[in-house]
Amino acid sequence: MVDLTAETVGQGRDRFQMMRNPLAGHITLQAAIRILMTVVTVVLATLWMAHKQNEQAQKATLTMVGGGLDAWEDHVKAFTRDYALWDAGYDAYVAGDKTWLYENIGAGITETEVADIIVMFGQDGKITYESVREELNAVPSQIFTPEVVGQIQDLAKDINVADGEQRSGYLRSGNDVLMIAVAHITPISRLAEFDTTTLPYMVLGLYLNRDRLDDLGQKFLIDDLHLELGAPAREIVEAGFSVISNMSGQPIGAMTWSPPTPGFAVLRNVFLPLTGGILLSCLFAIGTAFRTRSIAAKLAANEAAAVTAARRDNLTGLINRYGFNEALDSPEFREASEAGELGMIYIDINGFKAVNDSIGHHGGDELVKLVATRLKATLPPGTAFARIGGDEFAAALLGKNSNETASGSAAAMVHAFDEPFTVAGFEFHATAAVGYAVSGGQRLSPPELLCRADLAMYLAKNVAEREALVYHPTMETGALEKKQVEAALRRAVEAEEIKVFYQPVVRATDMAVVGLEALVRWNSKEFGNVSPALFIPVAEDTGLIDDIGRFVMRQACIDIARWPGLKIAINVSPVQLRDPNFAADMTAIVQRHGLSPHQFELELTEGILVNNPTIAKRRLATLKELGFILSLDDFGTGFSSIGYLRQFPFDILKVDRSFVRDIGLNATANALIQSLVSLGDAMNLSVIAEGIENEDQLKLLRLVQCEYVQGFLISRPVPATEIDALLATLNDKRQVRIGGGSIVEQVIPAAARG
Ligand code: C2E
Ligand code: MG
Ligand code: MG
Repeated sequence: MVDLTAETVGQGRDRFQMMRNPLAGHITLQAAIRILMTVVTVVLATLWMAHKQNEQAQKATLTMVGGGLDAWEDHVKAFTRDYALWDAGYDAYVAGDKTWLYENIGAGITETEVADIIVMFGQDGKITYESVREELNAVPSQIFTPEVVGQIQDLAKDINVADGEQRSGYLRSGNDVLMIAVAHITPISRLAEFDTTTLPYMVLGLYLNRDRLDDLGQKFLIDDLHLELGAPAREIVEAGFSVISNMSGQPIGAMTWSPPTPGFAVLRNVFLPLTGGILLSCLFAIGTAFRTRSIAAKLAANEAAAVTAARRDNLTGLINRYGFNEALDSPEFREASEAGELGMIYIDINGFKAVNDSIGHHGGDELVKLVATRLKATLPPGTAFARIGGDEFAAALLGKNSNETASGSAAAMVHAFDEPFTVAGFEFHATAAVGYAVSGGQRLSPPELLCRADLAMYLAKNVAEREALVYHPTMETGALEKKQVEAALRRAVEAEEIKVFYQPVVRATDMAVVGLEALVRWNSKEFGNVSPALFIPVAEDTGLIDDIGRFVMRQACIDIARWPGLKIAINVSPVQLRDPNFAADMTAIVQRHGLSPHQFELELTEGILVNNPTIAKRRLATLKELGFILSLDDFGTGFSSIGYLRQFPFDILKVDRSFVRDIGLNATANALIQSLVSLGDAMNLSVIAEGIENEDQLKLLRLVQCEYVQGFLISRPVPATEIDALLATLNDKRQVRIGGGSIVEQVIPAAARG
């Protein structure tokens, strides 16, 4: 079964909050994601930058290599033009003067390394002059085959001779690639005299050899620049390397190199600081996340504490009304209410305002705390127990036996007030009104049941101060429905539902029992225990009071035989007294049992005296004459003056317990009780104080020399069968006079007080 007392619910919730703190978890996850994202972003950005830098460098290299090749071409072309457009050169060629050609052209070109090879041929393609750099060991006619020469002629087709145009191209010879430039050998100053289509050709060739490529590479800081022969692979073309094609447009090789990676170089340089930076910021971020997490955990704990505080009563540590409603709304309680297995108890401390007035609010708080502790001890586990108001408590019980437990706990709660409370060093007697309601198999919502328990408590406050009242539908109409009660009451006597209990009256000085008051009890099958304060008025209205009165008297006559020497007090309703046969009836019963009227006291209230004084006077006189002892019950609550009272032949005054209740709470109450006792004395009447519940009250009553006392302190009303045992206990414990009349007080144990 669940334990729903305030602490366990609160603590459970706190623990739960600490264990699974969603806010802290969320923050940690967020922080982790952020750290990861930052690291990934920084790394990716750096890599991307390096890559971009590499790409840029490669582009620049391509431009440089392309530019280098172009520069060579321009250079060779420029020399070709210089030597080809020369009148003297043309003349020498036509004249076949090889020596001149060598000395003025061939040697200048090959020795200065302007080009590696020079050839001249006519329109017929026959090479007429050739010259080559000595160390090259090349044979021009093997390179410039008729096929190659044909290609060169095609390349030079429609050349603009007048402008001195030259053209360039590449050709492959063995493992070499040769850059060539071609121009017509032109007598430029006499050009008009010639048919340009007949002019011979001059070709300069430059090997793209390793040295030259190395020079180019060094010039532009390109690593490993080289010429790859053959049709270049697709990757090489795609990578954008300079592809070299021959004069027919077929690729014969490509300039390749190791792509520059300045980005990676930068990356290598920044690697250490970057990693360090990332690590540091990770550490910082982790630290921040942990700090935030612990702050979040604290916040969540604070929130949990606030939630608990909102549902907890600070003073008692119990749940408050809000917490109680929340508990009643829980699945356990809703299930129990569906199954009709709920019990609800409502408790209200009596006269709490007076308590506060007399011992102050601080004392009042202390009392509430003590009351809470005692009440809680009466409850089974699984009960939701709350302080729902200043001096109000409520308990909700679950389970199959909740109906019985509720009635048991409610009774135990009433008894929880038997012992005095010690507040600020003072012993304090308090009482409470306890009402309860059970669902008894019916489907009742917890709030509905709480309303019912509240109503029962309200009635208990008025009529059953020392008893827990169970809710009954008739309570809704304000009081027990007369007709129903009447019908039930009619059957009650035969059904043996009506019983007589007795409460002892003792002498205040030595606590000797002098009499017993007969108090009627009705345990109705239909309504449960019904207080006499509720059913006596109904009995009076319906005339049933006569039957009840006679029953009580008969029962008292039977029981009195057990306790010779004790007087029995019988309560008499004004309605009974109105019956002309009342005195005769009573006497008849008494005599039928072989008893005498002066063994009985008849207790009457002021009502009859005020409403019908003439009849009352006559009846009382008769009763007195017959030998009955007469007492005025509930003295002090009516309106009768002393002079008025003197007209009636009373023997005893019973001071109403409302006066006794306030003893010790305020000075007026003490003075009042004193004057009531003095009044009785003055009228020569014995005085009994009713409703003594604690030692303080007894002390004061002794002090003001009240003769007799009666109340729960001595004993509750008990069945006749328990009286013998009670008398024995009381006799054992009663006070004794010692020596010169000083009183030794003996505390009467709780057992004897009921
Ligand atoms: P009552 O004649 O003044 O009876 C005393 C009432 O005070 C009883 O209530 C008794 O249980 C209660 N009492 C006694 N000591 C203490 C105490 O220390 N503290 C508190 N708080 N209460 C105490 P009960 O039995 O409920 O009777 C209520 C009233 O009903 C009686 O008041 C009486 O007027 C009437 N009643 C009871 N029995 C009969 C009866 O047989 N016939 C008639 N006509 N009326 C009866
Ligand atoms: Mg009485
Ligand atoms: Mg009374």
